[in-house]
Amino acid sequence: MSTKQLVLPDEQATILLGAALAGVCSQQTTIYLHGDLGAGKTTLSRGFVRALGHQGNVKSPTYTLVEPYQLDQWQVYHFDLYRLADPEELEFMGIRDYFTSDAICLVEWPEKGTGLLPQADLEIDMRYSGEQRIAQVTANNEYGIRLLDQLELC
Ligand code: ADP
Ligand code: MG
Repeated sequence: MSTKQLVLPDEQATILLGAALAGVCSQQTTIYLHGDLGAGKTTLSRGFVRALGHQGNVKSPTYTLVEPYQLDQWQVYHFDLYRLADPEELEFMGIRDYFTSDAICLVEWPEKGTGLLPQADLEIDMRYSGEQRIAQVTANNEYGIRLLDQLELC
C-alpha cells in the first residue's frame, strides 16, 4: 500500500487534482472519494470530468445516485451514495454493469455500498484543514501505485 498527502489551499487546487488524476488514468479505474459534506469530493470530480472534455455542469447525483458522462476516451460514472438507504438498491440498479472495461468510476460515500462495490484502485480521503483541504490519496493495488507515482510528476 502506498499513500500520499496533498494540501489543497483552495477550490482550484482541488479541481487541478481531479484533472491530474484524469490525465493519468490508463485503464478501467475505480476511485473512492471519502470525506464529510463539503470536503470537496464533488469539486474534485468536476475537475476530473471537465479535464476529459465535459463542458457542462457537474453536480453531485445525490438523488439519482449516479451520473454518466460519455466522453471521448472514457465512460465516466460519478456516484454519490449518500442517500443510499440499503446497499441492495445497488443490486437493483445493476451496479456491476457500470464497472466495464472502458469505465472510470468515481464514488462519493462508497462506505454506503460496502460489499457491493468493486475494490477501489485509489481512495481519496478529503478533510478540512481550516479554510483549506487535505487530500490523502491511497493506492490499493499495483495500478493505483502507478497512478500515484505519475501524480507526483504532474
Ligand atoms: P462534497 O462533494 O465533498 O460534499 P463539494 O465539492 O460539493 O463537497 O463542496 C466543497 C465546497 O468547498 C465547495 O463550496 C468548494 O468551493 C469548497 N472547496 C473545495 N475545495 C476546496 C479547497 N481545497 N479549499 C477550500 N474550499 C474548497
Ligand atoms: Mg458531493
